[in-house]
Amino acid sequence: MQSVDLAIIGAGPAGLSAAIYGSRGGLKTMIFESNMIGGQIVLTNEVENYPGFEDTLSGFDLVEKMRLQALKFGAEIKDTTVLSINISDTIKEIITSEGNFQAKTIIVATGASPRKLEVPGEYRLIGRGVSYCATCDGALYRGKKVAVVGGGDSAVEEAVFLTKFAAKVYLIHRREELRAVYSIRQQAQKNEKLEFILNTVVQEINGEKQVQSLSLFNKKTNQSSELTLDGVFIYVGIVPNNELIKDLLDIDHQGFVITNENMETNIQGLYVAGDLRKKTLRQVVTATSDGAIAGFWAEKYIQENT
Ligand code: NAP
Repeated sequence: MQSVDLAIIGAGPAGLSAAIYGSRGGLKTMIFESNMIGGQIVLTNEVENYPGFEDTLSGFDLVEKMRLQALKFGAEIKDTTVLSINISDTIKEIITSEGNFQAKTIIVATGASPRKLEVPGEYRLIGRGVSYCATCDGALYRGKKVAVVGGGDSAVEEAVFLTKFAAKVYLIHRREELRAVYSIRQQAQKNEKLEFILNTVVQEINGEKQVQSLSLFNKKTNQSSELTLDGVFIYVGIVPNNELIKDLLDIDHQGFVITNENMETNIQGLYVAGDLRKKTLRQVVTATSDGAIAGFWAEKYIQENT
């Protein structure tokens, strides 16, 4: 069985940052990732608030720099699915689809995924007009009419992004006030292609082979209506990717893992970093910060315990 000092599960900004710190600190570091390198930020077309880059850069370009930096210090990235984690007093085992690995410490940085709206028509029409990624699918809607559902930073930012392609973008939010921060709201409010439909919920996504309309309900006027369009982008928050650890670690009522400020969990030598953690601000900068802290404490743990 192959042994490493530090096993990192998830190659988003938190995992890559942990890998930079761990491998630079001399730990034999392996990152396990079964999906795309970079996590959710890869789906963001423009990152403008990551310090150090005064020119906007794409999420993909930013994580590519992190990936190359981690490789430079000797971290290895394994393209495989982690099936489970076995923990005993001294040994931590990573069970993957390509064999088992032993690690002295583990950092779990599996992040979060888009929450589903859970309305009729949604699952049936995924990839046929229902999307969770404007960066991936926005260009398909050149000159067309689309809606974005949600009122947070993601929804409002991506609605603005979609106006680059679509002739018209509706932003449908269930309350009067948007949750998004001021700077993002400002950009949206001055965009003429963007129309806000507030106090309104989507009850159904309609269409045979392709999205054709949304059934809407205005909670203020109690009126139902139908909005004809070509596509709908859903940005109603995130759910933690906690399958591997939800029975091992302390989690909050939403399933996010409770750590202390050193990213330590209720299991010694097992750390959690990034969006999977219970925290107040989920940004690339806080994910990389979590990763750095977890990498630092993992190194310290190894020094003191092996
Ligand atoms: P979020 O902040 O949790 O917002 C989710 C939005 O969806 C809220 O407006 C919420 O409405 C709405 N919503 C939730 N469930 C719904 C449902 N069933 N039906 C209709 N609407 C529903 O999620 P997010 O925008 O994806 O952001 C996630 C995290 O990433 C946040 O911490 C955010 O700050 C961060 N982020 C930052 C940036 C940036 O800094 N540039 C960009 C994107 C994301 P209510 O408001 O009524 O609850």
